[in-house]
Order: sequence, then structure tokens, then C-alpha cells
Amino acid sequence: MKTRSLTTGIVHSDREFGVEHGGLHKPIHTSVQFGFERTEELIGVFQGTVKNAWNYARQGTPTSSALESLVNRMEGGRGTICFTTGMAGICAIFLTLLRAGDHLVCSKHVFGNTNSVLGTLEDLGIAVSKVDATAAQNVAAALRPETRMVFVETIANPGTQVPDLAAIGELCRRHGLVYVVDNTITSPALFQPRSVGASLVVNSLSKTIGGHGAALGGAVTDTGLFDWSGYPNLFEGYRKGDAAAWGLQQIRKKGLRDLGASLAPEAAHRISLGAETLELRVQRCSDSALALAQWLLRHPAVQKVHYPGLPEHPQHAIAQQHFKAASWLMSFELRRPERLVEVLDRLQLVVKATGLGDTRTLVIPVAPTIFWEAGAEARAEMGIADGLIRVSLGLEAIDDLIADFEQALQAA
Ligand SMILES: *Cc1c(COP(=O)(O)O)cnc(C)c1O
Repeated sequence: MKTRSLTTGIVHSDREFGVEHGGLHKPIHTSVQFGFERTEELIGVFQGTVKNAWNYARQGTPTSSALESLVNRMEGGRGTICFTTGMAGICAIFLTLLRAGDHLVCSKHVFGNTNSVLGTLEDLGIAVSKVDATAAQNVAAALRPETRMVFVETIANPGTQVPDLAAIGELCRRHGLVYVVDNTITSPALFQPRSVGASLVVNSLSKTIGGHGAALGGAVTDTGLFDWSGYPNLFEGYRKGDAAAWGLQQIRKKGLRDLGASLAPEAAHRISLGAETLELRVQRCSDSALALAQWLLRHPAVQKVHYPGLPEHPQHAIAQQHFKAASWLMSFELRRPERLVEVLDRLQLVVKATGLGDTRTLVIPVAPTIFWEAGAEARAEMGIADGLIRVSLGLEAIDDLIADFEQALQAA
């Protein structure tokens, strides 16, 4: 069934694969083993000729497969694989599609743990260039004959930089590069990376797609736009049948089955439940983020506000062009960084915690926590000010949130 509305499709998604006993939710299938009446069937599952069947839960369960279909529908993809976390999905892409001697171009504004993985890749002999992807010419200038892949995030955390998404997509298409877009902050409720030519889309399901902060998960979606037939790093065994399926097949076999970061059925179920309200939550949290950003902009204790929904933001036009709203992520800098801890300690409603995309509003002082390991020099290079506070907007009423920030900022 094809639906025009994201939410209509999401809430009826499970029914498409056969309702079990009339239950409207896909059940939590906890079996690790799956038995077959006929040996032929068991053989067919191993050889890939029997579809919609499972053999060992490390390679998926009916519950994780239902979530894969759901995420795939949301992204308008050709196929989706779920993982135990977003990081597992990202590592699966890098480790299964890149080889020693290859070159990766990555936005320099990426999630801290993704940045950490880049160091591991370099140790494995994969060269990495980190570029300011807000301008596509920086990506173009970094390309080499051995470049295979370009990686960006839609809205960077915590600085909220937005890459030149469409121009980079066009560049990748011209050069035959795998274009990986991490859609975690925008989510398919605000943006489909397929629209800018992404080859693979990453979503951390632990964030706004689950939305409740009660389950970890990740997903990799193949948009169907990349021509895998010419991609050099695919094993001979996976170059069979329709070439459009080759890339994801290798990620599933090598990245999920062999590396083993498989999503547990309980987590898949919780994420599916959360996803039903994705669109409603993202809209409300984005409205709140814009209102809070506008309010903070006028506050005398605030030096700077980073939010792509503000006309002052350097990539406001790109965000306007591609995203339905500027998301639930924002950050701001205190004029007097020495008051950072005092201000945050006064917050009563807002929770001091790392993590993103929860139903509750979360704040974290960035420099002494998530960017502490990077060191002062790297922080300065990345534009992480000492007084920077990241805010992940939740579902609370905006008046309650502003009242909490107002009384806390009196300490600033
Ligand atoms: C959180 C996050 C990840 C990693 O997801 P986990 O599910 O926590 O492993 C990747 N990319 C972005 C942009 C994130 O915010």
C-alpha cells in the first residue's frame, strides 16, 4: 500500500506482512532458531532463494525485519538493515565497503564517536580527509583517484552546521562515489536524503525515531540510487543477481552477520512503537526549538545561538530548502563561560544528560564533556566555545521550558 502521509504509512506498516492472530503490532519474536518442515526450505533460506524467512536471529528476526520495512518505507529506500546501535550501522558501512588504500572524505562536523572511528580506519590503512562540507568545493578539492566514499550528517551536533547536501550529491554522482548521509538529527520526518542523491542513509534509532530513550538501535538504508555493479570492493559471492542489491547484501552478510551487532527483538519492538508518533513529536519539538532559539537570541547573557531555523544561521537557506523544519537540536553560547555550571545547576525541569531526541528536554555543557577528550586545541579548531550548551528539545510546553531557562540564566 502506498500512502502519501508518513504517519499513515507508519501506523499500518506491520499489517502488510501478515497479521498474526489479529494482533496489530508485530509480535516480539524471541526465537534464536527457526525450524523448517522441509529440508528444501532450510537450504533455500541459506541460499537466498526462500524469501521472508529466518534461520538464526543474528541475521534478523521477524520483529527486526518488520522494523527494517518500516524504516525503509520512511526513507523511501530500496532496502534497510537494522543494527544494535547507530554506531554499529556506521561501522558496518565503513568496514564492509572500504579497503586499505581507499580514501574517505568526511565532513569535519560529525558525531564525536563517528569521528573516533575515522582514526580506527586510518590505522587500517584507509586514508581520511576531514573537510568543511558546508561548501561542496571543499569536498571536490579533497577528492583523489582512490576516493570511494563521502560521509556527511544533515545537521551537525553540536554546532548545527548543514552541508551543501544537493551539490555534494551531484559531485558524488559524477564521480561514482558512495554518498553516505547520516539523517539522525533530521530523521525521515523532516528530510529524505534520497532527494539529494544519497546512496546510503544512516539513522540512529536510539534518538528521535524511537523517541523515548528506552531502546538503542540503528539502521542503514540503501536508496537504490548507487550503481553497485562497478564498485570494486564487493566480494565475488555477493555479485549475483540484481546489481542494485549487491551493496546492501554485503553490508548484511559482512556487517551484520559476521560482525554480529544485531538488533534485539525487544528493542526493535520498542523502537517501532516510538516511531508511530515520530512525525508529531518532531514537529512539536522543532517548533519549540525555534521558539527557544528566538528567545535565547534576545537574552543579554547569551553570546550566540546555533539553530538552522534562524535567518542568522550561515546555512539557513539550505536548511529551508531541504528540511520541513530545522529539528529539535540547537546550541547556544554563554557570554560568561565561567558561569556554565552555575546556570545548568539551576535548571529544574530540563535534564542535564547526554543523549538526543528524547521526549524530555536534555542539556549538556559541550566542552567539558563530549568534546573533553578532543583537547582545547581541537575544540578551538572545531569552534566549540567553552560556554557552549547543547539542547535537545523534548515534548514539554514551550512556556515551561522558557520559564526554566529564564530563571537559570539569572545566574549568568
Ligand atoms: C547518536 C548518533 C549516532 C550514533 O547512534 P547510537 O545509536 O547512539 O550508536 C550517530 N550519528 C549521529 C548524528 C548521532 O546523533
